[in-house]
Amino acid sequence: MILVTGGSGLVGSHLKEVMPDAVYLSSKDFDLNHMNEVDEMMNLYKPHTVIHLAARCGNLFDNMNYPLDYIESNVLMAVNLFKKCHEYNVEKVVTCLSSCIYPEQVNEYPMKEEILFKGPPPIGNFSYGIAKRCIATLIDSYVTQYNKKWFYLIPCNLYGEHDKYGDHNSHFVAALIKKIYNSDKILDVWGTGKPYRQFIHAEDLAKVIMILLEKDICDNFNVTTPYSFTIKEIAEIALRATGKDLEIKFDETKPDGQYRKDTSPSKLLKEIDFEFMTLEKGVKRVYDNFSKRHDR
Ligand code: NAP
Repeated sequence: MILVTGGSGLVGSHLKEVMPDAVYLSSKDFDLNHMNEVDEMMNLYKPHTVIHLAARCGNLFDNMNYPLDYIESNVLMAVNLFKKCHEYNVEKVVTCLSSCIYPEQVNEYPMKEEILFKGPPPIGNFSYGIAKRCIATLIDSYVTQYNKKWFYLIPCNLYGEHDKYGDHNSHFVAALIKKIYNSDKILDVWGTGKPYRQFIHAEDLAKVIMILLEKDICDNFNVTTPYSFTIKEIAEIALRATGKDLEIKFDETKPDGQYRKDTSPSKLLKEIDFEFMTLEKGVKRVYDNFSKRHDR
């Protein structure tokens, strides 16, 4: 059987729709920070495949306020889980890093998998970046030392129907959708609107995970659309998708974050034939779903 940690999160919830037969667990079932709970979980399910999606993750401000939680929990969960996966002879383990853990500055864009360690991660999410790089090193070390079919994926920014919409922990597209829904005149956007970003719908990441497992392709890949848009363009696409006529106002007192951090899907697309959902279509889907849940 296939066991999925982080089954209640954004990616886990979308994965459940494309792979309904796996077992989906959250922190309420087992807290992966504790080795005894990981052992109990593995002993109960004895999976042949583990999809490790459980993570402490959030936006830039959450990263800056809780750096210890980010490094401690992400590393601890992975160390505990992978140790038990080895002990229980789990054949395949797949986990997710993030494109925001690539070096802050590189000479060539879009970034390819091989430059992951060629410079420190951005200062704004340094703890998360180091934690995820530790997870990459753990996986690579299990592969080298024990010849495992374990691998990791490096997704760009994600959004989807199952995103978080809280005031402090939401990601960019979720926050944008909530602002568009709640406004009649102005759409406030943080920063200058100039940085470039890549976004994919979490359902596409879920489909890529399923395809790689089905095809028995066990290698590390960026998972991203080839397209990058500026924050301004993304706001405009979102307005088009939602049909709302709002004036975009940039709050330049707020930080921009990195100017660009685009990654290349070329290695992945050589292995599988996959077309990512357009941002306009994805945002429309998520906005319609958000509206349905909040309209009175
Ligand atoms: P998410 O929505 O924040 O969900 C996190 C999941 O981890 C939840 O199911 C949560 O369970 C579980 N979890 C947290 N702490 C746990 C613990 N101590 N023990 C057991 N489970 C625990 O995350 P996501 O957005 O789906 O992210 C999935 C993966 O993709 C992560 O590795 C993340 O770093 C990566 N990623 C995400 C993005 C993005 O934009 N969201 C972008 C790139 C990469 P509860 O519900 O019980 O708290």
